[in-house]
Amino acid sequence: MSTKTYHIAQIAELLGCPKAPYFQQDSSISWLGYDSRKIGDAKATLFFALQGRRNGHDYLAEAYKKGVRHFVVSEDRPYGDLFPEANFLLVPDTLMALQKLAAYHRSQFHYPVVAITGSNGKTVVKEWLYELLSPDYSIVRSPKSYNSQLGVALSLWAMNESANLAIIEAGISQAGEMQALQTMIKPSIGILTNIGTAHDAGFDSVEQKVQEKLSLFTNVSTLIYSPKYLHGQQISQQAEKSCSWGEQGSEDLAIINYAQTTNGYTTIKARYNGKEISITAPFTDAASLENVVCCWATLLALGYDHRTIAQRVASLSAISMRLELKNGINSCSIIDDSYSNDISSLEIALDFLSQQQQHQAKVLILSDMPIQGMEDVLTYQRVAELVNRQRLSLFVGIGEQLSRYRHLFAGKTAFYPSTASFLASGLSFQHSTILLKGARSYSFERISKTLSAQMHDTVLEINLNALENNLNQYRMILPEGVKLMAMVKAFSYGSGSFEIANVLQFNKVDYLTVAYADEGIALRRAGITLPIMVMNAGIQNMEMLLRYDLEPEIYNLHELQALSRAIIASNVEGVSHAVHIKLDTGMHRLGFMEDELEALIKLLHQMPHVKVKSVFSHLVASGDSSQDDYTRKQIALFKDMASRIKASLPYEIWMHIANTSAISRFPEANFDMVRLGIGLYGVSADETQPIALSTVATLKTKITQIKHIPAGDTIGYNRHGRLKGNGSGMTATVKIGYADGYNRRLGNGHCYMLIGGQAAYTVGDICMDMCMLDITGLPNISEGDEVIIMGEKPHVNELAKAIGTIPYEVLTGISPRVKRVYYYE
Ligand SMILES: *Cc1c(COP(=O)(O)O)cnc(C)c1O
Repeated sequence: MSTKTYHIAQIAELLGCPKAPYFQQDSSISWLGYDSRKIGDAKATLFFALQGRRNGHDYLAEAYKKGVRHFVVSEDRPYGDLFPEANFLLVPDTLMALQKLAAYHRSQFHYPVVAITGSNGKTVVKEWLYELLSPDYSIVRSPKSYNSQLGVALSLWAMNESANLAIIEAGISQAGEMQALQTMIKPSIGILTNIGTAHDAGFDSVEQKVQEKLSLFTNVSTLIYSPKYLHGQQISQQAEKSCSWGEQGSEDLAIINYAQTTNGYTTIKARYNGKEISITAPFTDAASLENVVCCWATLLALGYDHRTIAQRVASLSAISMRLELKNGINSCSIIDDSYSNDISSLEIALDFLSQQQQHQAKVLILSDMPIQGMEDVLTYQRVAELVNRQRLSLFVGIGEQLSRYRHLFAGKTAFYPSTASFLASGLSFQHSTILLKGARSYSFERISKTLSAQMHDTVLEINLNALENNLNQYRMILPEGVKLMAMVKAFSYGSGSFEIANVLQFNKVDYLTVAYADEGIALRRAGITLPIMVMNAGIQNMEMLLRYDLEPEIYNLHELQALSRAIIASNVEGVSHAVHIKLDTGMHRLGFMEDELEALIKLLHQMPHVKVKSVFSHLVASGDSSQDDYTRKQIALFKDMASRIKASLPYEIWMHIANTSAISRFPEANFDMVRLGIGLYGVSADETQPIALSTVATLKTKITQIKHIPAGDTIGYNRHGRLKGNGSGMTATVKIGYADGYNRRLGNGHCYMLIGGQAAYTVGDICMDMCMLDITGLPNISEGDEVIIMGEKPHVNELAKAIGTIPYEVLTGISPRVKRVYYYE
């Protein structure tokens, strides 16, 4: 979004496109689109057909259908015939064209632009600087961690006349990428957070990585960096001003020491301009303290006085860039994004709200945008534009500014001057999805607390970005045209029901599969419209299947006859119902054997109202290379059996047999569709597979009590727990037990949990609701500390191995009493 608009003809000229007579020459463009699912104000959108994982040119029709009339493309197709009333700007490279436009837009503003790069901490430093500088500047900043080639361009597009400072994050993963970012951002102030020594795949050496990152700062007038991260490289450009920081003693801001005070604060003492100065920050971990120092150096370089800096730093708080989806009271779903509020992140949150299908009613509770004075009108017109095109059942505005601009908002609205007055109003919600989007100072966490169902210390956090990443990883290796069925049986392998299905539906998978009819019905009731296959429908449930448009797996003749009877009884003339025929090629669980095919085909011929959508089978050991001969035999038998059925029916029938491990190991068995299960949830049974999966589920809890154990004492039931050497030591009691799905066999040191990154092994028998960890000798552990039970580390594969089972059982064994929280970063 930009408050500055450009005519399409002007953009065409800028992008070097021939001066064609443009359709609606003077159409104003204020939005840049690149995802056909996320089109807002279609008329004012310029859509870029980007070539990435998917080819944006394949989505032009969808964008056109939504009303977009201005496109930038790189493939010369006969657009005029397909989309008569639209403009097509043909360029060699659509991403470069987008960057060119962003660079031009950026050049229209003459206020300072801060660029931040580094291996870690970019987003935190950006958000903290935003907080620290907000009292004095009206700031545009990158939303979330939009720091890629595309993200930077979109961030710059948000620059507008009402701001007087921009803070932009820049991230690269390969040599050669920074040049394009530098050309776009043209920063006047540069900040290097840090540079890790880890060997990135995209660079030949650490030195090359440093050089590349530093190239962002060509021509900056002020530079903030730490010499320790230059790895011997020289800062070559002549910044007029710089402020270096670090612990070596020779820096401009030379840290003398860090002293932890009570209650989680740390006082940092340093020498600056020959004087000793200090600040106290509400953090204790090394990463946060480094980011604080980086901000401190920046404020000093900007000329702030010590007192102001000390005051503002003391009230910083941990950054949560997360948007969380959790259960609310009165059957509501709460989307909690109560940390920040600006137009870009509001757009992202509204996109997520529009994905949610589980309730008809959608409510947005929004606070004022944190801006100072200038040009409020423009900002609130934008906000209202975004809000009005959502079909909300209620819009709640909190703050004096929103109240003042209430006339801009259409539909049912309510306004309150403050968070307190909203809470006092007693307004209540039922069966609604509620998005909470509030700036820091509005303390929306208080609203979140009243609307959310009670939270427990033990939660399973589900990272929806990671789930999408895994889906895309598999899509990338699938040949075009192969469909994807996502297995969401057993509560999506323990991770959730409609919450997962919404994401999959939004990402356009082709099919969902559940194990039982009731799982499918739950998804339909939550608004999921994708086709759904039910593996074990049950003869007694056939009518329900029809009513909820669920497609059964048919594995014997009785089932087929029951379905046929139900279709006839439902009496809908001429409408057929889709089924999926399961063939037994060696699993010997469910399905037709070879010698039963003839009878099946005969019966199908008598049932024109039953439509065979697909035939499929299941592999028994697709991840086990020692069984590859058997797998190939199954595939061959499947081809044989499937083609007999296909040959006997006069319409198209899909074939599928591949589960997760077969997708990468047996590409010849992809056929028309694959069934992706555990890989979607970030786990692979195939250790040689080339796919980079991300961890989706993290199981967390907290320490309830810490104990000193005298030498010789035992810990827990049956006196099985003893500390090393039977000596004295310390234990931590944590809130997870076998009733939560933490297997009892993980006790007595068979597995560990992570506390502040340190491994603490179980000691003694696992109890029903709790267990004990040996924390003897581990520093800095307090009651209330967070404990990672399972996640990136310890990985679900480690837990499975420790008790001789498979990751599938561990994941699906996490009890429903453990609350699930879904988030996007
Ligand atoms: C569970 C299941 C899958 C998915 O298996 P993964 O190994 O998790 O990918 C595929 N097909 C059928 C029939 C299943 O039951």
